Amino acid sequence: MLRGAALRSAVGGGGGRLAQVWRAVETDWLDLVAPPLEPRLAAAGWMPDPPGAYCPRCGLSMFDGRAIGEGCDQCEGRRPAWQRVVRLGEYRGELARIVREIKFSRWRALGFALGRLMAAQAAPVVVALAPGTRVVLVPVPMNRWRLMVRGMDHTLALCRGVRAGLRQAGIGASIAHSLGRRHGPSQLSVLPSERAGNIGRRIFPRGPRRFGKDFDRNLVVVVDDVMTTGATMQASCRAVREGLKRDGLEAVGVWALVAARTERADGDRDDP
Ligand SMILES: [Zn+2]
Repeated sequence: MLRGAALRSAVGGGGGRLAQVWRAVETDWLDLVAPPLEPRLAAAGWMPDPPGAYCPRCGLSMFDGRAIGEGCDQCEGRRPAWQRVVRLGEYRGELARIVREIKFSRWRALGFALGRLMAAQAAPVVVALAPGTRVVLVPVPMNRWRLMVRGMDHTLALCRGVRAGLRQAGIGASIAHSLGRRHGPSQLSVLPSERAGNIGRRIFPRGPRRFGKDFDRNLVVVVDDVMTTGATMQASCRAVREGLKRDGLEAVGVWALVAARTERADGDRDDP
């Protein structure tokens, strides 16, 4: 049996090394067994939403006769904290399965790949509506203990993919961890009608060092995997605006970028 120094040398020098080994297992082995994203989506006959397939203000699917002004009959009269939503598609079928796999497994590569796809969807909209600006990506913050339990920040994995994809499209992009989240009840454990209040009190802008010049005259894009009631995204975008105002920064806009949007506001999840 190995003890003390012998054990440490066997695992290569303590916890740091062990963590490295685990990380390698995670990226090389677990990611290897995660089926690649695009063949899966293609096999399922999935295509990203074409422009006009969803409402740019609330992200719900657009049907004939639903459009009203800049939005639709579902969001008329509402004033969301974002100017625009970009989504890949509805939260169903293969896209929903992939989003769940990213959330509940540790497949960083799958999250990264989905993020790149989100960038491909967002890039033409950025070029058309905010040409020449850089993009600051702000991940919707995860609860710290849930992060410890899951061992992976899936929203950050998406952000990394989005950043890579935007850069590939010639758009400058960076990631800023500007939002914090206090512990509280899961969004799933409260009624849909109470989710806005529940989450609104818990997401907050972090200190000035987490904002800074990158935000000035650039486009802020808040990234999440799924939007259901929109309460989490609303709280996040509002907290971004609060931070900008506090630090005297003027962004070109605050947008919401999600992989998927549920079609019912009381859908099965926003933030389990
Ligand atoms: Zn709408």
